[in-house]
Amino acid sequence: MSHKPLYDITPFTALDYPDHLAAIFWFARCNMRCVYCYNKEIVLGEGKRTEEEAIAFLQSRIGLLEAVVLSGGEATLFDGLVEFCKKIKQLNFKIKLDTNGLNPEMVKVLVENELVDYIALDYKAPKEKYYEITKNKHFDRFSKTLNLLIQKQFDFEVRTTVHSNLLRVTEINRIIKDLLKRGYRGTYYLQPFVFTEHTIGKVKEEKTSLDRSQLSSGLNVVWRA
Ligand code: SF4
Repeated sequence: MSHKPLYDITPFTALDYPDHLAAIFWFARCNMRCVYCYNKEIVLGEGKRTEEEAIAFLQSRIGLLEAVVLSGGEATLFDGLVEFCKKIKQLNFKIKLDTNGLNPEMVKVLVENELVDYIALDYKAPKEKYYEITKNKHFDRFSKTLNLLIQKQFDFEVRTTVHSNLLRVTEINRIIKDLLKRGYRGTYYLQPFVFTEHTIGKVKEEKTSLDRSQLSSGLNVVWRA
């Protein structure tokens, strides 16, 4: 286990945890290599901050911040995450977890022990496109996490990053259909890919944007700019 699981800390955000002032803990490493990922340094890099530093930081923010966002990279790769969340909870901060869903076992422990308050789950692509986008074959593991959160009626959101050359509207509609079939009734967030030169794969700027008028109905779909 790395003694420095965190790549960095963002001391303040009003945007990442709905309706909360929060800090962001960026966990180093990821088990995906999404072609459009622009957090290359975090995904491929080594951690620079210890767990103790993160907890000390939070102690200095008691009364100033309400919550912490565990982001990355992929926070569930950190073996000590459950214990880490317990320490954060002892300081009375709320916790939001951003996850790609590849660790259903850890998500289950976190949810069942009330160690997270909100989860943003990435639905990267439909099953047949999952590997092409993420370079990871374990759609089944993501699927397990999604079913678990629906079944537990946990407070979570599903979101997809959209690059119209990589995911077409028919594929987004396939995701919507799948979410409805599984019983998801929350908001489905679509977030646009933002072009940078530094993505993990070679991703060009979008030629067209997604035709939102073609999106299926039945689910509350929100475009998050
Ligand atoms: S976009 Fe993909 S590769 Fe980048 S941090 Fe998220 S899951 Fe990992």
